[in-house]
Amino acid sequence: MNFPIEKFKNIATPFYYYDVELFERTAKTMKSEADKYGYVLHYAVKANTNEKLLRILSSMGFGADCVSGEEVKHAIDCGFPKSGIVFAGVGKRDDEINFCIDADIAVFNCESEQEIEVINELAQAKGKRVNIALRINPEIDAHTHEHLTTGTIEDKFGINLWQLESVVKKVMQMDFVEITGLHFHIGSQITEMSPFILLCLKVNELQDMLEKTGLTVKHINIGGGLGVDYEDPDQNPIPDFAGHFATINKYIKLRSGQVLHKEPGRVIVAQCGTLISKCLYTKELQKKNFAILDAGFTDLIRPALYGAYHKIENLTFAYSGIQEVRQLKYDVVGPVCESSDTFGKDVLLPRTRRGDVFAIRTAGAYGEVMASRYNLRTLPKAYYSTEL
Ligand SMILES: *Cc1c(COP(=O)(O)O)cnc(C)c1O
Repeated sequence: MNFPIEKFKNIATPFYYYDVELFERTAKTMKSEADKYGYVLHYAVKANTNEKLLRILSSMGFGADCVSGEEVKHAIDCGFPKSGIVFAGVGKRDDEINFCIDADIAVFNCESEQEIEVINELAQAKGKRVNIALRINPEIDAHTHEHLTTGTIEDKFGINLWQLESVVKKVMQMDFVEITGLHFHIGSQITEMSPFILLCLKVNELQDMLEKTGLTVKHINIGGGLGVDYEDPDQNPIPDFAGHFATINKYIKLRSGQVLHKEPGRVIVAQCGTLISKCLYTKELQKKNFAILDAGFTDLIRPALYGAYHKIENLTFAYSGIQEVRQLKYDVVGPVCESSDTFGKDVLLPRTRRGDVFAIRTAGAYGEVMASRYNLRTLPKAYYSTEL
């Protein structure tokens, strides 16, 4: 990625920088690969809610996958058609459900029998019939970080397989909800294909089983979760969407007229976003060196929260034209009064000076959206490559 480092000099750090051109290329590639199979994409808004990026996606024909009433409102404000909005989440409040019923969104992805009973009651009160999809916990281990797995029997998400038949029978008796889809989401940052293949095979098995109870659905939603290359963002800025969809297409058996939905989040926004920061101080101690940045876990919490890896670069050095330099190992840390405020340990960097500009890469997903005001710090601003 090329950074406009001269322009960065006039902007107060820390801030998020979005490469809009890469964002558009990523989204377009995914959309055109999905179109080849007629797959429908709902962007998972929670990964990054920036209005500029959302407007680009809505104009490209993406739908929106929302996990709160606020996200649904925001998606509508950013140009997504209500008929392209799905509302998911394990804990939907009554006021959120009512708002979405009034808005005539496409479908509620439901996670329990109790939730469906509530939606049925609220829909009845309005005299409306609403579309629901059953979120099923397929009991598949996504082989990702334990905080990012959602589809095993230990997880809070979805309807468990042992309950499924009884839930379906009860819901089919309810008058104000209609089961139009089956929904699955097994986790995030999944970089192997095998969990997705297992999911496709499970979907096939469940469709066979549910058809015996008289249920055929209009859409199958296999969720999000496709991972990105945090180690080498410049080598792999855009994931292999063609290969991914070809594999899904090979394994999943859709019924005639049935449409496949996907909910990509991270895979669309992660690589285009970078957290830009300045080095405030350095400490070269006997056993350790520290580079103390002006960005902290209040700006990007993933390393502190999940031990997530982000590539860290000293941009001042990278753009200085200097070739050879002594490299040192630094713990790259923030200013927040917590030891977990660390972006990377033993990161090999050129000798760093106060004022050097740093890039923390692949920060576009679950970065800015998770920023907090702990220590009363200011929320980071966003800047876009097309507007600098
Ligand atoms: C978070 C989430 C997604 C998006 O996951 P990514 O890993 O960012 O693609 C999709 N669907 C559901 C239900 C989610 O909770």
